[in-house]
Amino acid sequence: MSALELDETHDPERVSWIEVAPESDFPIQNLPFGIFSTERRDPRIGVAIGDRILDLRAIAEAGHLDEVADRAMLCGERLNELMAAGRPVWRALRGRLSDLLRVGGARALRDMPDAFCSFGEARMHLPARIGDYIDFYSSLEHATNLGRLFRPTGDPLLPNWRWIPIGYHGRSATIVPSGTPIRRPCGQRKSPEAEAPVFAPSRRLDIELEIGFFAGPGTALGERIPGERVREHIFGSVLVNDWSARDIQSWEYQPLGPFLGKSFATTISPWVVTMDALEPFRVAGPVQIPAPLPYLQRHDPENFSIALSVRLSSASMRERGCDPSTISRTSFASMYWSQAQQLTHAASNGATIRPGDLFASGTISGALPGSQGSLIELTENGAHPLELPDGEKRAFLEDGDEVTLLARCEREGFRSIGFGAAQGRVMPAESDRFA
Ligand code: MN
Repeated sequence: MSALELDETHDPERVSWIEVAPESDFPIQNLPFGIFSTERRDPRIGVAIGDRILDLRAIAEAGHLDEVADRAMLCGERLNELMAAGRPVWRALRGRLSDLLRVGGARALRDMPDAFCSFGEARMHLPARIGDYIDFYSSLEHATNLGRLFRPTGDPLLPNWRWIPIGYHGRSATIVPSGTPIRRPCGQRKSPEAEAPVFAPSRRLDIELEIGFFAGPGTALGERIPGERVREHIFGSVLVNDWSARDIQSWEYQPLGPFLGKSFATTISPWVVTMDALEPFRVAGPVQIPAPLPYLQRHDPENFSIALSVRLSSASMRERGCDPSTISRTSFASMYWSQAQQLTHAASNGATIRPGDLFASGTISGALPGSQGSLIELTENGAHPLELPDGEKRAFLEDGDEVTLLARCEREGFRSIGFGAAQGRVMPAESDRFA
């Protein structure tokens, strides 16, 4: 087992001279990157610290990052150039930012109050130009639960599942940052009794709780990523809500897999938590039987101990002033296929990987009741609706429902960090008069 690669940026005693609340997702040990704008700033790279955003362009232009990174890659409107720069640059930049923000460190930013703004002033954008988006299916519990629901008479796990990190190509154009409203999709659905399908708004709109990672430097056509070098190719992670219309999905998915039941929208959290920030939370994954083929062999620890939760609030709950209801709590630690295995596999046929490509984990579900990452599992395909605090029942999402995904990493001896939120509210379907 290889040791954790820790340095002074992970020191739990390190504190910032910017005030950070104890429960904040963004202490100085995190330093996630995102793209923000304000009334007087064009979209640009920022770093979250407490409830403030450090304007990376402003401090790069002032020359404070010249020793660690090329100015141009820090002054763009997306993170792709930084993602392409590779791990030595990412680590040097993290070290420099930590030093600029820590008590007792470099003092260069102390007389630059304009280099910061508050979360309240900022609008968050997509962190990268996402060329390709792949969604995996890497939770054993989720694959088993869904197999049971979609194919009740067969073996829930298909014979390839324990050999291949199963995935499909999603639609990058409809990935949206947290807070973007989600329009209920229309599509073809067919009930088992009916002879023909109808085209109508989905009645089984669902969520999928996932974590995605952004690719780093990438590969040329024909090149592969060996398992022992895959760490250099993963920049950082975000929360992903892979909204899913189960009625459209169940009618269309055979034989080629998910299509319009998934491609209408995917929400991600706006702050990319770097793999270097996640390093203290690296843990060994579950034992894999049968042992994967040699190219997929793990270099443990390859999983991450990340506690996840899903909150739901309905329009009526918000009107009555009810707090959102936590409908699921689970962990990323026991995912069967690791992010490293997913990327190694995705590149194993020589397909080009580009900086900023997004790879989502697939729904993260645990074995215990209340630990599943989708409503179809939590309610057993709608048979056992959830009861909300104001007495409403939920089998699938209703218009006005707002879903928030949260993630937090905790480990004895380290400062806790979090991901912020991936949130979206369901809007009524576009008129289906063209059906
Ligand atoms: Mn998914």
